[in-house]
Amino acid sequence: VIEGLLEDLVLANRILFHQGVVDAYGHVSARDPRDPERFLLARHVAPALVTRDDIMTFDLEGRALDANGRTPYTEVFIHAAIYAARADVHGVVHSHSPAIIPFGVSDVLLRPVAHVCAFLGQGVARFDTQDAFGDTDLLIRDLELGRALAHALGDHPVALMRGHGSVAVGVSLRQAVYRAIYTEVNARLQTEALRLGGSVRYLTPGETALMGRHQDPAYRRPWELWTAGLGEGFVAPAQH
Ligand code: MN
Repeated sequence: VIEGLLEDLVLANRILFHQGVVDAYGHVSARDPRDPERFLLARHVAPALVTRDDIMTFDLEGRALDANGRTPYTEVFIHAAIYAARADVHGVVHSHSPAIIPFGVSDVLLRPVAHVCAFLGQGVARFDTQDAFGDTDLLIRDLELGRALAHALGDHPVALMRGHGSVAVGVSLRQAVYRAIYTEVNARLQTEALRLGGSVRYLTPGETALMGRHQDPAYRRPWELWTAGLGEGFVAPAQH
C-alpha cells in the first residue's frame, strides 16, 4: 500500500504541474496509510522536480519526523491542520492556480458550471487572513494560521485563500488532485460564462448530487491520462 501511495504522490506532484495547477510553488500531500496521525509531503522543492527521495513524513502539528537535513515547505501547517481537523481527508493540494485567485478576492461565488466540477456544489469555503490576523505576508507559516484555515474550510471540498490561492481536499490523494485540477477548470469556465454578460445558470443541488454518484473513486481514467501526459521524458519512480 505504502509504495503505491508514494508512487502516486510523486506522480501527483508532476501531474499538478503539467495540468497548470502548481508552478514553482504549491504542494500536495497524502495521509500516511500506516499511521493516520502522520502525513507525507515533499521537501521544499518545485513539485515538477519531486522524486521519491524528497518525500518526508510529518506529524499533525507539522513537525518533520525524518528530516535528515531536508527543509520542509514553509506552509506545511496547511496540511497538518487540515488532516488534524478532517478525519475523512486523505489528500490535500495547496496551489496558487491563477483562475481561482479572482474568486478569492471577489464577492462572486465560485459555483459549478460543468458536470465534471459538480463537487463544487458542496460549497466553496473562503479564508481571509485579515479576519483574525490583520496584515500578514499571507503565508500559512504556523499551526495557528493552519488551524484558522482548516476551520474556515469546514467540511467543504475547497477553500479559497484571499490574495494567495486555494486548497482542495479529498477522501483520497487522487480525489484531491482531481478537485484541484477541476476547480481551476471551473474557475476559467465560470469567468468565461460571466463575461458573456447574460445570467448564468449554475448546476442545481439536485444535479450536483446525482453527478457525485457517478464519480469513479479511483479516478482511473483521468489518472491514466494525466500520467501518460507526463511525456516520454518522464521516468516513472522505481518500484521498491
Ligand atoms: Mn502558498
